[in-house]
Amino acid sequence: MAIRNIVKEGDPILNKKSREIENFDEKLSILIDDMIDTLKLSNGIGLAAPQVGILKRVIIVLIGDKIVELVNPKITKKLGKQENVEGCLSCPGEYGITVRPMSVRVEGKNRFGEDVFYEGEDLIARAFCHEIDHLDGVLFKEHVIRMLNKDELE
Ligand code: ZN
Repeated sequence: MAIRNIVKEGDPILNKKSREIENFDEKLSILIDDMIDTLKLSNGIGLAAPQVGILKRVIIVLIGDKIVELVNPKITKKLGKQENVEGCLSCPGEYGITVRPMSVRVEGKNRFGEDVFYEGEDLIARAFCHEIDHLDGVLFKEHVIRMLNKDELE
């Protein structure tokens, strides 16, 4: 297990589309374990593989005190709407108000290639949408209706 560097905005890798995982092998497990270590150290609530420089469809999201992993994730249900503050480990110090679904269902695989799904609302729904966007080269700023200014950040 190891900590990986988090790619920052401006790096073209963050604008690229990630590829589906086809082999559920040791390499994938190492990537996921490294992403978990990296997320724990950064105090974020989610991380996508492109943020550690790997263009593969893998995300992890913190739910309560548990980090869940999803490979080849797809949002299969969206309900409602929320406007809330969002930031990104790849855009340190920047926050904005985004519009996201209030709740989502996400389906995909775990590291062993088994089907898994999660349902989440509020913060968790935002995190799933945010991380899956990274797999399509989309940053949260594309969903921002207003960036927070300096005073609001304090
Ligand atoms: Zn992000």
